[in-house]
Amino acid sequence: MTQNEIIDFMTSLQQPRFRGRQVFSAVYRRGCRGFMEMTDLPLGLRHEMDQAAEVGMPEVLSRQSAGDGTVKLLMRLQDGSTVEAVSMLYRLDRSRDRLTFCLSSQVGCPIGCPFCATGKSGFVRNLTAGEIVGQALVLLEEAAPGIGDAEKIGVNIVFMGMGEPLLNLEEVLKAGRLLHDPEGMGISWRRITISTSGVVPGIRSLMGEGLPINLAVSLHAADNRLRDRLVPINRRYPLEELIPACREYADAGGRRMTFEYVLLPGINDKLEQACQLAELLAGLPALVNLIPVNPAGEEEQSGSNPADAKRAREFARVLKGKGIGATIREGKGGEIMAACGQLRSREVRER
Ligand code: SAH
Ligand code: SF4
Repeated sequence: MTQNEIIDFMTSLQQPRFRGRQVFSAVYRRGCRGFMEMTDLPLGLRHEMDQAAEVGMPEVLSRQSAGDGTVKLLMRLQDGSTVEAVSMLYRLDRSRDRLTFCLSSQVGCPIGCPFCATGKSGFVRNLTAGEIVGQALVLLEEAAPGIGDAEKIGVNIVFMGMGEPLLNLEEVLKAGRLLHDPEGMGISWRRITISTSGVVPGIRSLMGEGLPINLAVSLHAADNRLRDRLVPINRRYPLEELIPACREYADAGGRRMTFEYVLLPGINDKLEQACQLAELLAGLPALVNLIPVNPAGEEEQSGSNPADAKRAREFARVLKGKGIGATIREGKGGEIMAACGQLRSREVRER
Protein backbone atom coordinates (compact mmCIF):
# COMPACT_ATOMS: atom_id res chain seq x y z
CA MET A 1 0.00 0.00 0.00
CA THR A 2 1.13 3.52 -0.75
CA GLN A 3 1.12 6.22 1.89
CA ASN A 4 -2.26 7.49 0.68
CA GLU A 5 -3.73 4.00 0.73
CA ILE A 6 -2.56 3.52 4.32
CA ILE A 7 -3.92 6.94 5.30
CA ASP A 8 -7.30 5.95 3.80
CA PHE A 9 -7.19 2.70 5.72
CA MET A 10 -6.44 4.49 8.99
CA THR A 11 -9.22 7.01 8.40
CA SER A 12 -11.59 4.07 7.86
CA LEU A 13 -10.65 3.07 11.43
CA GLN A 14 -11.62 6.60 12.56
CA GLN A 15 -8.00 7.58 13.01
CA PRO A 16 -6.35 10.90 12.12
CA ARG A 17 -4.26 11.08 8.95
CA PHE A 18 -0.96 11.35 10.81
CA ARG A 19 -1.47 7.79 12.05
CA GLY A 20 -1.31 6.66 8.43
CA ARG A 21 2.05 8.34 8.02
CA GLN A 22 3.27 6.69 11.22
CA VAL A 23 2.25 3.26 9.99
CA PHE A 24 3.81 3.92 6.58
CA SER A 25 7.21 4.70 8.01
CA ALA A 26 6.96 1.87 10.53
CA VAL A 27 6.61 -0.57 7.62
CA TYR A 28 8.70 1.01 4.88
CA ARG A 29 11.44 2.66 6.91
CA ARG A 30 11.76 0.55 10.04
CA GLY A 31 10.66 -2.71 8.41
CA CYS A 32 8.18 -3.63 11.20
CA ARG A 33 6.86 -7.14 10.66
CA GLY A 34 3.61 -6.67 12.57
CA PHE A 35 1.43 -4.02 14.19
CA MET A 36 2.47 -5.07 17.70
CA GLU A 37 5.98 -3.82 16.97
CA MET A 38 4.63 -0.33 16.27
CA THR A 39 5.04 0.85 19.82
CA ASP A 40 4.40 4.47 18.89
CA LEU A 41 0.72 3.52 18.40
CA PRO A 42 -1.74 3.01 21.29
CA LEU A 43 -2.05 -0.66 22.25
CA GLY A 44 -5.82 -0.74 21.65
CA LEU A 45 -5.33 0.55 18.12
CA ARG A 46 -2.65 -2.03 17.43
CA HIS A 47 -5.06 -4.79 18.44
CA GLU A 48 -7.76 -3.31 16.24
CA MET A 49 -5.40 -3.15 13.26
CA ASP A 50 -4.28 -6.69 13.87
CA GLN A 51 -7.88 -7.80 13.34
CA ALA A 52 -8.31 -5.75 10.17
CA ALA A 53 -5.02 -6.11 8.28
CA GLU A 54 -1.63 -7.70 8.18
CA VAL A 55 1.92 -6.76 7.37
CA GLY A 56 3.14 -9.36 4.91
CA MET A 57 6.86 -9.70 4.38
CA PRO A 58 8.42 -12.43 2.27
CA GLU A 59 9.63 -15.35 4.35
CA VAL A 60 13.33 -16.18 4.09
CA LEU A 61 13.75 -19.86 3.16
CA SER A 62 17.49 -19.78 2.81
CA ARG A 63 20.32 -17.34 3.23
CA GLN A 64 23.72 -17.78 1.63
CA SER A 65 26.65 -15.45 1.99
CA ALA A 66 29.89 -15.24 0.05
CA GLY A 67 33.31 -14.04 1.12
CA ASP A 68 32.97 -10.87 -0.95
CA GLY A 69 30.02 -9.61 1.14
CA THR A 70 27.32 -10.84 -1.23
CA VAL A 71 24.21 -12.23 0.43
CA LYS A 72 21.57 -14.17 -1.48
CA LEU A 73 18.14 -14.85 -0.06
CA LEU A 74 15.56 -17.30 -1.33
CA MET A 75 12.19 -15.97 -0.22
CA ARG A 76 8.74 -17.50 -0.14
CA LEU A 77 5.76 -15.33 -1.05
CA GLN A 78 2.20 -15.70 0.22
CA ASP A 79 1.10 -18.05 -2.58
CA GLY A 80 4.11 -20.30 -2.07
CA SER A 81 6.05 -18.97 -5.08
CA THR A 82 9.70 -18.31 -4.42
CA VAL A 83 12.14 -15.70 -5.69
CA GLU A 84 15.75 -14.81 -5.06
CA ALA A 85 17.21 -11.39 -4.27
CA VAL A 86 20.82 -10.42 -3.72
CA SER A 87 22.67 -7.79 -1.72
CA MET A 88 26.15 -6.79 -2.84
CA LEU A 89 28.63 -4.82 -0.81
CA TYR A 90 30.94 -2.26 -2.39
CA ARG A 91 33.62 -0.61 -0.34
CA LEU A 92 33.83 3.04 -1.40
CA ASP A 93 36.69 3.87 0.92
CA ARG A 94 37.90 2.86 4.34
CA SER A 95 34.95 4.29 6.19
CA ARG A 96 32.13 4.01 3.68
CA ASP A 97 30.35 1.04 2.19
CA ARG A 98 27.55 0.94 -0.31
CA LEU A 99 24.98 -1.76 -0.72
CA THR A 100 23.37 -2.67 -4.02
CA PHE A 101 20.18 -4.68 -3.85
CA CYS A 102 19.38 -6.76 -6.91
CA LEU A 103 15.61 -7.35 -6.90
CA SER A 104 13.37 -9.70 -8.82
CA SER A 105 10.32 -8.38 -10.68
CA GLN A 106 8.73 -11.67 -11.75
CA VAL A 107 8.67 -15.32 -10.69
CA GLY A 108 10.69 -16.77 -13.55
CA CYS A 109 10.89 -14.92 -16.85
CA PRO A 110 9.00 -15.27 -20.14
CA ILE A 111 11.85 -14.06 -22.38
CA GLY A 112 13.90 -17.25 -22.23
CA CYS A 113 17.46 -16.15 -23.01
CA PRO A 114 19.35 -19.43 -23.42
CA PHE A 115 22.34 -18.50 -21.21
CA CYS A 116 20.24 -17.39 -18.21
CA ALA A 117 19.16 -19.69 -15.38
CA THR A 118 16.00 -17.63 -14.77
CA GLY A 119 15.07 -17.86 -18.44
CA LYS A 120 15.49 -21.62 -18.35
CA SER A 121 13.09 -21.95 -15.44
CA GLY A 122 10.06 -20.62 -17.36
CA PHE A 123 7.58 -17.96 -16.31
CA VAL A 124 5.11 -18.15 -13.44
CA ARG A 125 3.73 -14.68 -12.67
CA ASN A 126 4.37 -11.01 -12.09
CA LEU A 127 5.29 -9.85 -8.59
CA THR A 128 3.21 -7.23 -6.81
CA ALA A 129 4.77 -3.94 -5.69
CA GLY A 130 4.55 -5.19 -2.10
CA GLU A 131 6.47 -8.34 -2.96
CA ILE A 132 9.16 -6.26 -4.66
CA VAL A 133 9.57 -3.77 -1.82
CA GLY A 134 9.41 -6.69 0.63
CA GLN A 135 12.60 -8.08 -0.92
CA ALA A 136 14.40 -4.79 -0.25
CA LEU A 137 13.14 -4.56 3.34
CA VAL A 138 14.15 -8.12 4.11
CA LEU A 139 17.55 -7.63 2.45
CA LEU A 140 18.12 -4.49 4.50
CA GLU A 141 17.50 -6.42 7.66
CA GLU A 142 19.36 -9.58 6.67
CA ALA A 143 22.29 -8.19 4.75
CA ALA A 144 23.03 -5.17 6.82
CA PRO A 145 21.80 -5.77 10.35
CA GLY A 146 22.41 -2.77 12.50
CA ILE A 147 23.57 -0.68 9.58
CA GLY A 148 20.37 1.33 9.94
CA ASP A 149 18.98 3.82 7.57
CA ALA A 150 18.96 3.01 3.86
CA GLU A 151 19.26 6.72 3.16
CA LYS A 152 22.41 7.10 5.22
CA ILE A 153 24.27 4.13 3.78
CA GLY A 154 23.16 4.86 0.25
CA VAL A 155 21.42 1.76 -1.02
CA ASN A 156 21.31 1.28 -4.78
CA ILE A 157 18.47 -0.72 -6.29
CA VAL A 158 18.90 -2.63 -9.53
CA PHE A 159 16.03 -4.51 -11.17
CA MET A 160 18.44 -7.14 -12.40
CA GLY A 161 17.12 -10.15 -10.56
CA MET A 162 14.61 -12.62 -11.92
CA GLY A 163 12.21 -11.44 -14.57
CA GLU A 164 11.72 -8.74 -17.16
CA PRO A 165 10.79 -5.55 -15.25
CA LEU A 166 9.31 -3.75 -18.25
CA LEU A 167 6.72 -6.52 -18.64
CA ASN A 168 5.58 -5.67 -15.10
CA LEU A 169 6.11 -1.94 -15.26
CA GLU A 170 3.12 -0.82 -13.24
CA GLU A 171 4.10 -2.81 -10.15
CA VAL A 172 7.80 -2.06 -10.61
CA LEU A 173 7.05 1.67 -10.71
CA LYS A 174 4.76 1.43 -7.70
CA ALA A 175 7.59 -0.36 -5.88
CA GLY A 176 9.99 2.37 -7.05
CA ARG A 177 7.71 5.04 -5.61
CA LEU A 178 7.50 3.20 -2.29
CA LEU A 179 11.28 2.81 -2.14
CA HIS A 180 11.72 6.46 -3.10
CA ASP A 181 9.22 7.89 -0.59
CA PRO A 182 11.17 10.12 1.84
CA GLU A 183 9.15 8.66 4.72
CA GLY A 184 10.10 5.16 3.56
CA MET A 185 13.62 4.14 2.51
CA GLY A 186 14.12 7.48 0.78
CA ILE A 187 16.14 6.06 -2.12
CA SER A 188 16.68 8.65 -4.82
CA TRP A 189 15.58 7.79 -8.37
CA ARG A 190 19.14 8.14 -9.57
CA ARG A 191 20.07 5.18 -7.40
CA ILE A 192 17.45 2.99 -9.09
CA THR A 193 18.20 1.12 -12.32
CA ILE A 194 15.83 -0.91 -14.46
CA SER A 195 17.43 -3.46 -16.73
CA THR A 196 15.48 -4.66 -19.75
CA SER A 197 15.95 -7.21 -22.47
CA GLY A 198 14.54 -4.59 -24.86
CA VAL A 199 10.77 -4.24 -24.44
CA VAL A 200 10.41 -1.17 -26.66
CA PRO A 201 6.86 -0.13 -25.62
CA GLY A 202 7.98 -0.44 -21.98
CA ILE A 203 10.94 1.88 -22.62
CA ARG A 204 8.52 4.43 -24.10
CA SER A 205 6.09 4.10 -21.16
CA LEU A 206 8.92 4.52 -18.69
CA MET A 207 10.05 7.62 -20.57
CA GLY A 208 6.49 8.96 -20.31
CA GLU A 209 6.77 8.84 -16.50
CA GLY A 210 9.53 11.46 -16.66
CA LEU A 211 11.41 9.95 -13.71
CA PRO A 212 15.23 10.09 -13.58
CA ILE A 213 15.48 6.28 -13.38
CA ASN A 214 18.57 4.71 -14.95
CA LEU A 215 17.94 2.40 -17.84
CA ALA A 216 20.17 -0.53 -18.74
CA VAL A 217 19.51 -2.55 -21.87
CA SER A 218 20.73 -6.14 -22.23
CA LEU A 219 22.05 -5.97 -25.76
CA HIS A 220 24.38 -8.99 -26.04
CA ALA A 221 24.59 -8.80 -29.86
CA ALA A 222 24.90 -6.01 -32.42
CA ASP A 223 23.16 -7.82 -35.27
CA ASN A 224 19.59 -9.11 -35.45
CA ARG A 225 20.47 -12.62 -36.52
CA LEU A 226 22.52 -13.33 -33.44
CA ARG A 227 20.33 -11.28 -31.10
CA ASP A 228 17.21 -13.18 -32.24
CA ARG A 229 18.85 -16.26 -30.75
CA LEU A 230 20.42 -14.77 -27.63
CA VAL A 231 17.59 -12.45 -26.57
CA PRO A 232 14.48 -13.91 -28.21
CA ILE A 233 12.36 -10.77 -27.71
CA ASN A 234 14.52 -9.27 -30.47
CA ARG A 235 12.25 -11.06 -32.96
CA ARG A 236 9.46 -8.80 -31.77
CA TYR A 237 11.47 -5.59 -31.22
CA PRO A 238 14.54 -5.74 -33.45
CA LEU A 239 17.56 -3.46 -33.18
CA GLU A 240 16.21 -0.90 -35.66
CA GLU A 241 13.36 -0.26 -33.19
CA LEU A 242 15.30 -0.76 -29.97
CA ILE A 243 18.23 1.56 -30.62
CA PRO A 244 16.11 4.61 -31.54
CA ALA A 245 13.98 4.04 -28.40
CA CYS A 246 17.20 3.99 -26.33
CA ARG A 247 18.36 7.18 -28.00
CA GLU A 248 15.06 8.87 -27.12
CA TYR A 249 15.31 7.69 -23.52
CA ALA A 250 18.86 8.98 -23.16
CA ASP A 251 17.96 12.31 -24.80
CA ALA A 252 14.87 12.77 -22.64
CA GLY A 253 16.83 12.22 -19.42
CA GLY A 254 19.93 14.02 -20.63
CA ARG A 255 22.04 11.19 -19.30
CA ARG A 256 24.15 8.31 -20.35
CA MET A 257 22.53 4.90 -20.49
CA THR A 258 24.05 1.49 -20.05
CA PHE A 259 24.14 -1.43 -22.44
CA GLU A 260 24.86 -4.79 -20.86
CA TYR A 261 26.77 -7.24 -22.98
CA VAL A 262 27.40 -10.73 -21.65
CA LEU A 263 30.51 -12.17 -23.27
CA LEU A 264 29.79 -15.67 -24.57
CA PRO A 265 33.04 -17.27 -25.74
CA GLY A 266 33.06 -17.97 -29.48
CA ILE A 267 29.54 -16.58 -29.90
CA ASN A 268 29.58 -12.81 -29.44
CA ASP A 269 33.06 -12.04 -28.11
CA LYS A 270 35.07 -11.70 -31.33
CA LEU A 271 36.86 -8.42 -31.72
CA GLU A 272 35.05 -7.74 -35.04
CA GLN A 273 31.85 -7.97 -33.01
CA ALA A 274 33.22 -5.27 -30.72
CA CYS A 275 33.69 -3.07 -33.81
CA GLN A 276 30.15 -3.85 -34.95
CA LEU A 277 28.84 -2.93 -31.48
CA ALA A 278 30.76 0.34 -31.54
CA GLU A 279 29.18 1.17 -34.91
CA LEU A 280 25.71 0.38 -33.66
CA LEU A 281 26.12 2.65 -30.63
CA ALA A 282 28.00 5.45 -32.39
CA GLY A 283 26.72 8.85 -31.34
CA LEU A 284 24.69 7.50 -28.41
CA PRO A 285 25.54 8.63 -24.88
CA ALA A 286 26.22 5.01 -23.98
CA LEU A 287 28.31 3.03 -21.59
CA VAL A 288 28.84 -0.65 -22.34
CA ASN A 289 29.01 -2.91 -19.30
CA LEU A 290 30.70 -6.16 -20.27
CA ILE A 291 29.68 -9.19 -18.20
CA PRO A 292 31.89 -12.27 -18.32
CA VAL A 293 29.43 -15.17 -18.60
CA ASN A 294 28.51 -17.04 -15.43
CA PRO A 295 27.56 -20.68 -15.58
CA ALA A 296 23.79 -21.07 -15.51
CA GLY A 297 23.59 -24.85 -15.51
CA GLU A 298 23.08 -27.01 -12.48
CA GLU A 299 26.31 -28.97 -12.43
CA GLU A 300 28.77 -26.32 -13.47
CA GLN A 301 31.07 -24.68 -10.99
CA SER A 302 30.93 -20.95 -10.78
CA GLY A 303 34.09 -18.95 -10.94
CA SER A 304 35.94 -16.58 -13.18
CA ASN A 305 38.13 -17.85 -15.93
CA PRO A 306 41.35 -15.91 -16.71
CA ALA A 307 40.91 -16.33 -20.49
CA ASP A 308 37.44 -14.76 -20.26
CA ALA A 309 38.79 -11.89 -18.21
CA LYS A 310 41.51 -11.25 -20.80
CA ARG A 311 38.99 -11.29 -23.65
CA ALA A 312 36.78 -8.83 -21.73
CA ARG A 313 39.72 -6.43 -21.43
CA GLU A 314 40.49 -6.71 -25.15
CA PHE A 315 36.84 -6.23 -26.07
CA ALA A 316 36.68 -3.14 -23.84
CA ARG A 317 39.86 -1.77 -25.41
CA VAL A 318 38.36 -2.02 -28.92
CA LEU A 319 35.20 -0.23 -27.80
CA LYS A 320 37.13 2.54 -26.08
CA GLY A 321 39.34 2.93 -29.15
CA LYS A 322 36.17 3.71 -31.07
CA GLY A 323 34.98 6.23 -28.53
CA ILE A 324 32.49 4.03 -26.64
CA GLY A 325 32.83 3.95 -22.85
CA ALA A 326 33.21 0.41 -21.54
CA THR A 327 33.50 -1.19 -18.13
CA ILE A 328 33.79 -4.80 -17.04
CA ARG A 329 31.30 -5.91 -14.43
CA GLU A 330 32.94 -7.04 -11.24
CA GLY A 331 31.79 -10.61 -10.69
CA LYS A 332 30.17 -10.96 -7.29
CA GLY A 333 28.52 -13.84 -5.53
CA GLY A 334 29.68 -16.52 -7.98
CA GLU A 335 30.49 -19.01 -5.24
CA ILE A 336 26.87 -18.98 -4.03
CA MET A 337 25.28 -18.90 -7.52
CA ALA A 338 24.20 -15.29 -6.91
CA ALA A 339 25.94 -13.74 -9.92
CA CYS A 340 24.19 -12.33 -13.01
CA GLY A 341 21.96 -14.86 -14.68
CA GLN A 342 22.17 -17.41 -11.87
CA LEU A 343 18.97 -16.70 -9.95
CA ARG A 344 16.15 -19.18 -9.96
CA SER A 345 13.01 -20.01 -8.03
CA ARG A 346 14.04 -23.14 -6.26
CA GLU A 347 16.68 -24.31 -3.94
CA VAL A 348 19.53 -26.17 -5.56
CA ARG A 349 21.10 -28.80 -3.39
CA GLU A 350 24.50 -27.65 -2.26
CA ARG A 351 27.46 -29.63 -3.36
N1 SAH B 1 15.54 -9.47 -17.51
C1 SAH B 1 16.29 -8.27 -17.42
C2 SAH B 1 16.81 -8.07 -16.03
C3 SAH B 1 17.82 -9.12 -15.59
S1 SAH B 1 19.36 -8.34 -15.53
C4 SAH B 1 17.41 -8.27 -18.42
O1 SAH B 1 17.68 -9.30 -18.99
O2 SAH B 1 17.97 -7.21 -18.65
C5 SAH B 1 20.46 -9.64 -15.50
C6 SAH B 1 21.60 -9.40 -16.46
O3 SAH B 1 22.45 -10.55 -16.41
C7 SAH B 1 21.12 -9.26 -17.89
O4 SAH B 1 21.91 -8.38 -18.62
C8 SAH B 1 21.31 -10.68 -18.38
O5 SAH B 1 21.35 -10.76 -19.78
C9 SAH B 1 22.60 -11.06 -17.72
N2 SAH B 1 22.80 -12.52 -17.67
C10 SAH B 1 21.88 -13.48 -17.80
N3 SAH B 1 22.47 -14.70 -17.72
C11 SAH B 1 23.79 -14.48 -17.53
C12 SAH B 1 24.92 -15.34 -17.35
N4 SAH B 1 24.78 -16.67 -17.37
N5 SAH B 1 26.12 -14.77 -17.17
C13 SAH B 1 26.25 -13.41 -17.10
N6 SAH B 1 25.22 -12.57 -17.26
C14 SAH B 1 24.01 -13.09 -17.48
FE1 SF4 C 1 14.76 -13.00 -18.60
FE2 SF4 C 1 16.75 -11.25 -18.38
FE3 SF4 C 1 17.18 -13.88 -17.97
FE4 SF4 C 1 16.68 -12.98 -20.44
S1 SF4 C 1 18.44 -12.48 -19.14
S2 SF4 C 1 15.76 -14.78 -19.48
S3 SF4 C 1 15.24 -11.35 -20.03
S4 SF4 C 1 15.92 -12.54 -16.73
